Amino acid sequence: MDKQFIDNLTCDFVRDLTPYESARRLFSGGNDWLNANESPFSNDFSLDTQRFNRYPDCQPESVLNAYAQYAGLDKEQVLVSRGADEGIELLIRGFCNPGKDSILICPPTYGMYAISAQTFNVDVQKAPLNSDFSLDLAALENIAQSGNLPKLVFLCSPNNPTGTVIPQNQILAVLELFAGKSLVVVDEAYIEFSKDQTQTCLLAQFPHLVILRTLSKAYALAGIRCGFALASNDIIKVLLKVIAPYPVSDPVAQIARQALSSSGVALMQEQVSYLQNEQEWLRTQLASLPGMQLQGDNKANFLLYRCQRKDALMQYLVQNGVLIRDQSKQILLQDCLRITVGNREENQRLVALIQQFYQEGQAA
Ligand SMILES: *Cc1c(COP(=O)(O)O)cnc(C)c1O
Repeated sequence: MDKQFIDNLTCDFVRDLTPYESARRLFSGGNDWLNANESPFSNDFSLDTQRFNRYPDCQPESVLNAYAQYAGLDKEQVLVSRGADEGIELLIRGFCNPGKDSILICPPTYGMYAISAQTFNVDVQKAPLNSDFSLDLAALENIAQSGNLPKLVFLCSPNNPTGTVIPQNQILAVLELFAGKSLVVVDEAYIEFSKDQTQTCLLAQFPHLVILRTLSKAYALAGIRCGFALASNDIIKVLLKVIAPYPVSDPVAQIARQALSSSGVALMQEQVSYLQNEQEWLRTQLASLPGMQLQGDNKANFLLYRCQRKDALMQYLVQNGVLIRDQSKQILLQDCLRITVGNREENQRLVALIQQFYQEGQAA
């Protein structure tokens, strides 16, 4: 009876939602976590506890300054958030009228754009990628010319889970299609793995461009929840209207500041090189296996494979303590599994298990 009562009280569009199936929610056992595109490195930081009795700044100045310098922008163009996920949510809350407006996504892509929209009763339009994972510009043009304009167009580059980047001429084409109509949000969560592909240079020219960044991937700080939105100050001001009063806790600000120091950035770059090297090693090891076919590209810290007997393979890996991510529910990704690049020991264990699985025909 209580459940019925709570069900009746629940917001209509929330009642039918299922929570985001994060990698961590799906599987929490295992030894090797190669399922959430986290970094295998855990770096050291120091904490000053002197001000823990005080509320923190809403936008800690030192973190804004450090990130602005890192991104080559002014601090008026930067917003600090509780991960890039909060940036996605703030954009939806700041720009979309619930029950009326929509966002546009280009699947297969990151799941949180749609989930976040649904949580606020905002519609999701889709312009799926072409079969080679490039943008379908004709479909985007149709939507840009339609009477049903989205408020936000989400592009992800490098894209999760395909590892592909969108060439700048195509980003420019989308910016032109939606000029004066919609905001174009480029999610650069993995940009440190392809740093010449950043679109920050376009911010000065396009007032409807937003770029999302995070410390969760290359910076190895998924646990602290710190991300950034980069945009014209007019957009930043809207986001500041809907953000919580204290989104960035003091310990998070302290750690972010250290991560963005010159030695922190150098360490990140070293770890990115290591992971790129490991990615190449993994790719070479798996190339000889007839059961696995590489999909997409290697522009981030993961690889995507179409796998024979993919459910049995997943199960075999889980039984042996290795977690990777099933992406097969997404459009174009039938039988596809995503592997996060780990450290050498993790990658070796993974390769050995996959080789055993296919060579010995386990669970055939
Ligand atoms: C991991 C990821 C995020 C989320 O980053 P957080 O800062 O941890 O919230 C956003 N976008 C993409 C494409 C991601 O893969």
